[in-house]
Amino acid sequence: MPKGFTRKKAGEFFARLARKNPAPETELEYKNPYTLLVAVVLSAQATDKGVNRATRSLFAQVDSPAKMVALGEKALIEHIKTIGLFRNKARNVIALSKDLVDRHGGEVPRNREALEALAGVGRKTANVVLNVAFGEKTIAVDTHIFRVANRTGLAPGKTPREVEDRLLRVVPDPYLQHAHHWLILHGRYTCVARKPVCPVCVVRDLCRFTEKTREGPSLRKPVSARAKRRGR
Ligand code: SF4
Repeated sequence: MPKGFTRKKAGEFFARLARKNPAPETELEYKNPYTLLVAVVLSAQATDKGVNRATRSLFAQVDSPAKMVALGEKALIEHIKTIGLFRNKARNVIALSKDLVDRHGGEVPRNREALEALAGVGRKTANVVLNVAFGEKTIAVDTHIFRVANRTGLAPGKTPREVEDRLLRVVPDPYLQHAHHWLILHGRYTCVARKPVCPVCVVRDLCRFTEKTREGPSLRKPVSARAKRRGR
């Protein structure tokens, strides 16, 4: 496995992403830690846009574990049936909601072990919740982060856990809080899977990818908060 970036070089990498977008946010829509947890569970192998379309009406009606248990699995399926693996996800959401009511006083625990013990919640989901809802310096390695970390040479690894551990070692502390979102957004809109938009990439000179594109499709635009509210 090739060596990753030095801490100094990683600092420069994130300084540039930070200049471009000082306060990055998740593109999943949520109202509180509980609805964030549900949205992240629903987002496995689905797009954030698809999840937002389904959860908008759901979260208007249901924003707590007790309300979700009262809604029930059958009615939940009606809300989320446009999302892949919806039956399995509905079962998990009802089970984790019951667990939150029975064992955590209806609150989302700020604790990795307790989060990972919930139905349908793995390390990645726990990392997103700890980071976004509770401001912890965790990095949830999804497909975009895995690709960007390996492709650029920032933090190469054969598994998401290897990449996560390396990122936690190499990303300078001031950038750890937002590293997760900077990397996701970079992977989603610039360093895209099939044809990265290298000519306009702000970290082009730091990136070790040997097959950089000379020209690419125009940059995809992040969905703005206003567009989200309009339901785009
Ligand atoms: S130069 Fe290209 S491959 Fe490297 S990070 Fe930028 S978009 Fe990705």
